[in-house]
Amino acid sequence: MKGSCNCGNVSFDVSGNIAGLYQCHCKLCQKQSGSTSNTATIVKESDFKWLSGVNSISHWKKESGFTSHFCKQCGCPVPNRLRESDYFWIPMGLVENVDISITTHLCCSSKAHWDDISDKTIRHNGMPPDLDVFIKSLHNSQISD
Ligand SMILES: [Zn+2]
Ligand SMILES: [Zn+2]
Repeated sequence: MKGSCNCGNVSFDVSGNIAGLYQCHCKLCQKQSGSTSNTATIVKESDFKWLSGVNSISHWKKESGFTSHFCKQCGCPVPNRLRESDYFWIPMGLVENVDISITTHLCCSSKAHWDDISDKTIRHNGMPPDLDVFIKSLHNSQISD
């Protein structure tokens, strides 16, 4: 699946199977998205490829480790490496329309009052207890609850 920022400068391609998306409702993701949450997925580095615009990317890093990478020209959030891992974070709003559902909600305890989570999916009050298990769940269609 291909994705790009609003101005089209930054573009990328993701191969391989993605079973699920997640929404993070923490305050940082609310501000970064300007909305209820970030809707994203996490893919293996080997399944991710930049197509254009890597030099157009700037970033901001909070002391806690939260990072926001964005297109210098249009301000869109863009994919970035998840900490020092072999995984990339993919903001789904940039991706062409694909038939994948949200399977998990994170940081539900800090969601905005006007944010109504009505789907029947896995909910965590904070971050998932085990990041590896969480990433695997996004790639596994057998979602347990
Ligand atoms: Zn752009
Ligand atoms: Zn968040």
